[in-house]
Amino acid sequence: MDIKPLNSYIQNLTKPLVIAGPCSAESEEQVMAVAREVKNIEQVKIFRAGIWKPRTRPGTFEGVGSLGLPWLKKVKHETGLLVSTEVANAWHVEEALKHDIDILWIGARTTASPFAIQEIADAVKGTNIPVFVKNPINVDLALWIGALERLYNCGITKMAAIHRGFSAPDKTKYRNMPLWRIPIELKRRHPNIPIICDPSHIAGNRSLVPVVCQKAMDVNQDGLMIETHCDPNNAMSDAAQQITPSSLRELLGGLSLKTERSDDKDFEHHLEELRAKIDRIDHDLLEVLQQRMEVVEKIGEAKAECNITALQLSRMDELLIDRMRQGESLGLSPEYIKELYNVIHEESVRKQTRIMSNKKK
Ligand code: PEP
Ligand code: MN
Repeated sequence: MDIKPLNSYIQNLTKPLVIAGPCSAESEEQVMAVAREVKNIEQVKIFRAGIWKPRTRPGTFEGVGSLGLPWLKKVKHETGLLVSTEVANAWHVEEALKHDIDILWIGARTTASPFAIQEIADAVKGTNIPVFVKNPINVDLALWIGALERLYNCGITKMAAIHRGFSAPDKTKYRNMPLWRIPIELKRRHPNIPIICDPSHIAGNRSLVPVVCQKAMDVNQDGLMIETHCDPNNAMSDAAQQITPSSLRELLGGLSLKTERSDDKDFEHHLEELRAKIDRIDHDLLEVLQQRMEVVEKIGEAKAECNITALQLSRMDELLIDRMRQGESLGLSPEYIKELYNVIHEESVRKQTRIMSNKKK
């Protein structure tokens, strides 16, 4: 996909591009109050506010609807910021275009639905309005790329991907698991699609927002979309994760920004040495994994002989607890060890079920 760089349509861009504004537009006064504050923060180039809010359960605030679009137009004229909102169907697109919204974004629940994406793609055809696409709520990179492709096929070349984290089956400290490897893989496959981190929806809690922002900078993401509200505790949606404009200013000022390459020869040399060390360790690690798999296969054969199931949950639980404890004593986070062993164990079960079905034949 031949995607236009952000600086071709966003003026005076400095990295990171910052998109700020409330989760939801609640009233003209609330929208204008946030906009008047964030326009004075140098990095903020785009104002955000949700007009139509896709809520997980009915009975909560679902947005003010089209009534709020003139408020965004007012923000644009008064502050000079570009304005953006979420669209989830063709009618939202029509309404947003009618009110001169500069940038549209597609929410995580919508990205998960190809029919909805196609409807939006058909509605923006011929406009070349920038469209930013959030990752789907489920861990499915193909669905995320598919949404970008549907828009591209309808002539949209100004796009960015927004990394907002993924639904977690279990409760974690994050509202949505960041799974950094997914946006990193997107960047590897499509290096010219800018990636904007949404630390607010990843964190779910304002105290975690700064660390997520820093991590996004450390993995070289291009921008940040941060929910900002003058009175976060009384926000009509996502109250726990929004921050005030003054916290936003402080957060941005405290970020440590990095570049991808350095001209410092000593640094490059040191990095090469450490990388060679990693290469050797990974080589050993793979050999150990191969040895482990050989034992797994022997167990599979023994189980097949005695008609024992490949998956034995109690064994899995004991193993996990033991490895997490050992990992922790070595300074490795239990979440990391749990995720790692889930992958290792899943492959072991797969291998053993294959052995069992081969035996039957
Ligand atoms: C939002 O940006 O307020 C929103 C609803 O986000 P998401 O689609 O990431 O849940
Ligand atoms: Mn929100």
